[in-house]
Amino acid sequence: MDAHPRPERDAMMPARCLILAASCALLAACAQPGIAAQSEAVATIAATALPILAPAQPAATPLPPTLPAPAARISTAIAPAAAAPATAAAPTPTNRPNTPRSLATQFPQPFDAVEIVEHFMFGEPLPPGIGGLSTNYRYGMTWDGTLAPHHGSDYTSALGQPVIAVGAGTVFYGGPDMGPFFGIKPDFYGNVVVIKLDTAWNETDVYALYGHLDTVLVQTGAAVSAGEVLGTVGETGVAYGPHLHFEIRIGDDPTIYTRVRNPELWLRPQPFHGVLAGRVVNAAGYLVPGQRVYYECANSRKRHVDTYWDIYTPSDRVLLENFVAGNILAGECVVTTEWAGTRIEKTTRIEKGKLSFVVLTLPD
Ligand SMILES: [Zn+2]
Repeated sequence: MDAHPRPERDAMMPARCLILAASCALLAACAQPGIAAQSEAVATIAATALPILAPAQPAATPLPPTLPAPAARISTAIAPAAAAPATAAAPTPTNRPNTPRSLATQFPQPFDAVEIVEHFMFGEPLPPGIGGLSTNYRYGMTWDGTLAPHHGSDYTSALGQPVIAVGAGTVFYGGPDMGPFFGIKPDFYGNVVVIKLDTAWNETDVYALYGHLDTVLVQTGAAVSAGEVLGTVGETGVAYGPHLHFEIRIGDDPTIYTRVRNPELWLRPQPFHGVLAGRVVNAAGYLVPGQRVYYECANSRKRHVDTYWDIYTPSDRVLLENFVAGNILAGECVVTTEWAGTRIEKTTRIEKGKLSFVVLTLPD
């Protein structure tokens, strides 16, 4: 097995991607550590407002040379006194702010009221044994604050390995990411396959996107069955090194870059495994972005995941999570985070094939 896949190429280069969605400014910026970053608008994508997660404040500040270190981010991450109205006008398009915006979801008391929704409807996008999830750059994460927030899951795999349909469906598009295109600019995902899955969720269409493919082996409009080979792992588009970039998109227009959800909430856990999800909120009840969460579970070393960086990698509309860690062996898990020297801890039990949810509330 080859080495760790590197993230999308743009994310490793001086920032040069920024997108503006119609109802909410979409500012996907990319920065390389140590390199002075600039931003330029490269695309405008019409998007429907995200009714729950509206921008908390207009973007105003140019990109810094690097994104701030986690400690600096935390100190400024939860500033707003009140949630922005869901129908807030789009902020003036400009560069990305130099801190993540506090996500404008304020929960009614108690913050830990959670409605569990499970939709583990699909299989893995790679056949068994030929690749695995890269956990450094999960959905919504920024690779320690240095890369653009990630809209999907990356899977390590070697060039030319097959990618397979996670469920039965119809090929919405298979070919170069040029027209239509699915990323922040044409050819972002290189050769891409997008499947409209036969199984909708709550009357909402669900799509699976496979990016950076070497070859596409299905045609637009073709029906595919679960497990059918769609193409092969590659490094086309904005990618360094062969890997699969996989996304789940929902709604009626899968070309919209922000219509994503965390794939780890949609793929069936492996046998004897479950999924941990949760939310980190501040004392006022806002989701806190970029917060590191550790989880130490039965028969496993301590691992971590970071909370979603901004509003453009949205939460599930019901769960309102801001972190997910899939495929954890069933058993007890201690979930912790730290804030201003205080350790916040919750214990939960991972059940086979189930979703477990924790809420970590930071002190004032
Ligand atoms: Zn990726």
